[in-house]
Amino acid sequence: MSDSPNHPENATFAQLGEVLHNHQSFVLISHVRPDGDAIGSQLALGFALLAAGKNVRLINEDGLPDNLTFMPGSEKIELPPAEPLEVEVAIALDTATKPRLGDRALHAASRAKLWLNIDHHISNPRYGDLNLIDSTSPATGQILYQLIIAAGLPLPAETRDAIYVAVSTDTGSFQYPSTTAKTYEMAADLIHRGLDVGTINSLIYDNYPFRRVELMRELLNTLQISADGLLAHWELRDQTRIDLALLPEDSEGLIDIIRAIRGVQLAVFFEELIDGKIRISMRSKTRKLDVCQIAMEFGGGGHALAAGIRMAGPLEDAKAQVLDAIHRRIQAADL
Ligand code: 5GP
Ligand code: MN
Repeated sequence: MSDSPNHPENATFAQLGEVLHNHQSFVLISHVRPDGDAIGSQLALGFALLAAGKNVRLINEDGLPDNLTFMPGSEKIELPPAEPLEVEVAIALDTATKPRLGDRALHAASRAKLWLNIDHHISNPRYGDLNLIDSTSPATGQILYQLIIAAGLPLPAETRDAIYVAVSTDTGSFQYPSTTAKTYEMAADLIHRGLDVGTINSLIYDNYPFRRVELMRELLNTLQISADGLLAHWELRDQTRIDLALLPEDSEGLIDIIRAIRGVQLAVFFEELIDGKIRISMRSKTRKLDVCQIAMEFGGGGHALAAGIRMAGPLEDAKAQVLDAIHRRIQAADL
């Protein structure tokens, strides 16, 4: 478990461990619209460092989403302060590109002398002074588990639970092909360390607000499937967001419903954002159709089987461009 991910440009666990041990003040940041792996990664490493006696701030451009307030220690997640923090080290977690940390969060971390970038997105351009990018890891939380163990940092209860939430939410509950024996061995170790699996799963998966199910109904009314049955997509309009008083996290994971249709190889979710931009979320069932490649055509990124884009609207134009690119890729993929 203590091997460093094998990439010539990666820092080793030993190098990162040295940075963590030899500095006193840290700011940990994750991406805008944070998910379970983003917040989970901040809490996992944050509480390990706190238990080691460090000064730690955990900031996120969008703050803590409502669906993750059950996570022990999550009250430590703050909105970026207006003035830059006096910290030695900034650590970007689970964030594929530096701008995805958000302008206010970047400003808050601007006095840091050293940047660490720890992530599992293959498209990550290695924007840190030290980088640890392991695209074979199903979640950043799993990389942090390995790092914490390898560096001999404490693993308090908040860290234990956060690692589990990070990995569970990024693997569709230990289902996606990125889930390996290492992932299950890690989960077993967390249970040995006192993790209450039943309770935490219930808090993650049996605890949705009613408006999320209403959103599901609205989305189903927009569902379209291609004539060959390979592509399914649906969309969320601004008006629906207003009518149902939706929060950004309410749509998290719903794309898995259409990804699960038999025969569908590619699922796409189009969403009008408050700022007028369009968010596109894509899931593939096959490595022959690499959605990260499609996303990168439009300035987005992610993983081979799960990727996203944020692009200019209006929805109809964005949809036409992305569906066109998808159809080209499907033709070329020879499924
Ligand atoms: P989701 O569809 O769950 O929002 O994102 C799927 C994956 O794609 C995540 O790993 C996420 O980090 C990445 N991703 C989503 N949206 C964007 C984006 O606008 N830009 C980049 N670079 N990556 C994205
Ligand atoms: Mn992740």
